[in-house]
Amino acid sequence: GRIPAKGFAVYEEKGHFKPYEFTRHAVGDHDIQIEILYAGICHSDLHHVFADWGAEEYPMVPGHEIAGRVVAVGKDVTRFKVGDYAGIGCMIGSCRHCDACEQDLEQYCEEGAIMTYHGIDRYNDNEHTQGGYSNTYVVAEDFAIKVPDNADITKVAPLLCAGITSYSPIMQAGVKKGDKVGVAGFGGLGHMGVQYAVSLGAEVTMFDITEEKREDALRMGAVRYVNVNNPEDMKGLDKTFDFILSTIPAKYEPVMYLKMLKLDGQLGIVGLPAFRNMPTLSVAELVMPGARRKVFGSQIGGIKETQEMLDYSVANNIYPEVEIIKAGGAEIDKAYQNVLDGKVKFRYVIDMKTMK
Ligand code: NDP
Ligand code: ZN
Repeated sequence: GRIPAKGFAVYEEKGHFKPYEFTRHAVGDHDIQIEILYAGICHSDLHHVFADWGAEEYPMVPGHEIAGRVVAVGKDVTRFKVGDYAGIGCMIGSCRHCDACEQDLEQYCEEGAIMTYHGIDRYNDNEHTQGGYSNTYVVAEDFAIKVPDNADITKVAPLLCAGITSYSPIMQAGVKKGDKVGVAGFGGLGHMGVQYAVSLGAEVTMFDITEEKREDALRMGAVRYVNVNNPEDMKGLDKTFDFILSTIPAKYEPVMYLKMLKLDGQLGIVGLPAFRNMPTLSVAELVMPGARRKVFGSQIGGIKETQEMLDYSVANNIYPEVEIIKAGGAEIDKAYQNVLDGKVKFRYVIDMKTMK
């Protein structure tokens, strides 16, 4: 039968987090059930709670950075056994047969990937999906990520969104040893982006809006930190980068970064501000500066690439810097406020085992 679950939901737009009890679908033949140990707080969770990208349904249990342990497996499951670590990221299903799915790009499924929360699970009686700020999840094994036993499980959850969302465009752009790479927005995604680019041998410059992260950037291997509000820092940057990754979640001028790209340089955009604050880039800005630059957008990564990212991260000891909080409504509310105020270094992770 259905599996009882409990977690923390907001009951209205911009609401506070309160306990919420619900159920998940039964463990099917190809499904696994995970006891959630840790859940990361991604800025996208805030965008959904605040309805920044359009109307949402409530109650909503956010959370798409999930690390846990397998507690049950369906009879046809082959990749997991009870006791294994497992992870879940932003999506839990797709059609599996369109061109995108056949290329292991399920996030671009032509019929729409099923999101881990705020989704309608067409493959399980159209139930509303609820996310990781909860004690358990039931997922098809093909959409779960294997987490090696030697991984630091307290830090794995943010890899499933912040990790893959920065790793994938860095790989798409073909970043290699000696490349000059910029990462704009030094938060959850950005602090993973610098680590991946440095691990590939790139010379990395971090961009943010504060003085407070200068030391952190250098500690993570960046060669330079630019506070975009400091005119001294902004000197000498035009036409110097091969690739810039933008993770910025607020209003900004993309042309500023475009001008910093060399001939054939690329700007990869993953940060997605609220619709009311959406940055724009004009055709004139793209053509007239005259350096044949490319701009692309990117969403998370497919399951295969997510597994590759996770294995690469564990093998190279690349992890997020996390601040672990207790599983309580007041604690999650406070963490949200701190993310809004720029006070998080660098990712909040909820210890779901502490839920009463
Ligand atoms: P965080 O809040 O952790 O990090 C964002 C960082 O950007 C903060 O350090 C922030 O500074 C900084 N920042 C804000 N404004 C500027 C600016 N004008 N210039 C430079 N830096 C700035 O967010 P996340 O990393 O979790 O998420 C970032 C964005 O990526 C969000 O919009 C999120 O929705 C999106 N996202 C997209 C995904 C995709 O698949 N494409 C997947 C996951 C997330 P401060 O803290 O001081 O405000
Ligand atoms: Zn996310």
